[in-house]
Amino acid sequence: MSFESLGLAPALLRALAEQGYAIPTPIQAQAIPLVLAGHDVLGGAQTGTGKTAAFGLPLLQKLAELPKPEGLRRPRVLVLTPTRELAVQITDNLRAYAKHLRINVTSLFGGVGMQPQVEAFRRGVDVLVACPGRLIDHLERGTCKLGDVRMLVLDEADRMLDMGFLPSIKRVMKHVPAQRQTLLFSATFEPRIKALALEFMQDPQQVQVAAQNTVVETIRHHAHPVDAAKKRD
Ligand code: AMP
Repeated sequence: MSFESLGLAPALLRALAEQGYAIPTPIQAQAIPLVLAGHDVLGGAQTGTGKTAAFGLPLLQKLAELPKPEGLRRPRVLVLTPTRELAVQITDNLRAYAKHLRINVTSLFGGVGMQPQVEAFRRGVDVLVACPGRLIDHLERGTCKLGDVRMLVLDEADRMLDMGFLPSIKRVMKHVPAQRQTLLFSATFEPRIKALALEFMQDPQQVQVAAQNTVVETIRHHAHPVDAAKKRD
């Protein structure tokens, strides 16, 4: 299995070769053709499986194939992710994959000033990688418009729900056109994730890879509180 055989464009293949990627990971081999074909995809995969490229490569390819927008470029791809660290990591990866395409990737997270982010929107954004809280701040101020979004990714959806982002996700969804392609990645397909998929996705194709770096079920954890003086014993 090669990246060529998955149907990726030469500009992306070149960037992948420069990154030293030779063989697609299992989630990439499964998800890339489905995303390129335009399906909604429900992906069972954690960080470390190569899921960023699994959604990023086909979305960048589809974005590059869309007609160039006239005037200000508003986000056409939106990636929602729970933490600032993930937002930075995804942005770095997408920029590396898009190195030979004329695509701008911008990240948005809290804990930093709003103004540089407002200026980034004024310069034009193609792919927005955002944490839900700060995105809502911009939506409420009218500094970010999501009416041009064609493709949406809910990354680490289980963690976003754990962190209480469900109301924020629902609010963001009101700003995103219903006519879109939606991808959802989660470590598990527990009922609340299925409910999210049912609400926001259309006929999603399911792909899954074995969880990596999880604790083996036969391992049991015990905690024994001891005085500091007895710790060595
Ligand atoms: P992710 O699960 O997307 O966070 O990716 C985990 C790490 O694997 C990142 O450092 C990626 O750059 C790297 N990676 C992803 N896909 C491949 C691949 N096909 N070959 C080699 N490295 C990869």
